[in-house]
Amino acid sequence: MPRKTGAAARRKTVIAHPSSPLLGAHMSIAGGPSKALERGRSIGCTAIQIFVKNNMQWAAKPFAEAELEAYRKHPDPPELVFGHASYLINPGANNPDFRKRSIHALSDELIRADQLGLPFIVLHPGAHMGDGEEAGFRRIVSSLDAAFTASHHGKCRIALEITAGQGTSLGHTFEHLAIIIEQSKFPERLTTCLDTAHLFEAGFDISTAEGFWNVVKTFDRIIGRDRLAAWHLNDSKTPLGSRVDRHEHIGKGKIGLAPFCEIMRSEEFSALPKVLETPKNEDLREDVVNLGILRGMLA
Ligand SMILES: [Zn+2]
Ligand SMILES: [Zn+2]
Repeated sequence: MPRKTGAAARRKTVIAHPSSPLLGAHMSIAGGPSKALERGRSIGCTAIQIFVKNNMQWAAKPFAEAELEAYRKHPDPPELVFGHASYLINPGANNPDFRKRSIHALSDELIRADQLGLPFIVLHPGAHMGDGEEAGFRRIVSSLDAAFTASHHGKCRIALEITAGQGTSLGHTFEHLAIIIEQSKFPERLTTCLDTAHLFEAGFDISTAEGFWNVVKTFDRIIGRDRLAAWHLNDSKTPLGSRVDRHEHIGKGKIGLAPFCEIMRSEEFSALPKVLETPKNEDLREDVVNLGILRGMLA
């Protein structure tokens, strides 16, 4: 568990594990989950994020025993693998049928994540669809409770991701994430994920080192560092506070390099996985470039 330290100590950035930070990218599971391990390893990832099924479909066949076997017995997996829930899921949906599907899909994804031994899956908390924040939070909390209840012997946690605040999406402030955790019947199964692009798009000015650490300080106060599970490292195509989520390659967007340097160099985040979700082709060459820039920050 990372220690809480003062702002002064925090600014003194220390290179903790220059040879192997927990760094990587989102990897496709096309061909089976073990293929994601290989894809990640092929470009030197020590941490990867995966979907636990096709992220644009509601249902999926259970993993075949051979697929699980290939995944579990992989000789050289990245040090840390975690999941991202399907984009279709909206725990805040007001349409009862859509909400039921979301709960079912989420509990199924938690079970699949447990089969792969993933410590957590990242989830966009949900959108209220015009019914207002209060109704949205009520539905999100009860949907998450239902999904955890349906997989109650499971271990996998849900990491609520900060969002850009597009449309009626909730989760674009730390207070939003705190409300969900506080009202949940399963707070021990909830953690969070911070995405640099989403923070910036939601209006958190992390474009300077000072601004970045102020945002971290606010996070520590409202949520607490023991509830931070991962960083998503993405630059943003859209400006500060745009509420429009468009990921861009590191250093090519509106954020600049400052927060990425802080995250990469700070000892405080050395135990946390940091993964890219930037646009790429099948040969992963864009990931190689972005990871090269990030690793270069350790030099
Ligand atoms: Zn993200
Ligand atoms: Zn995003």
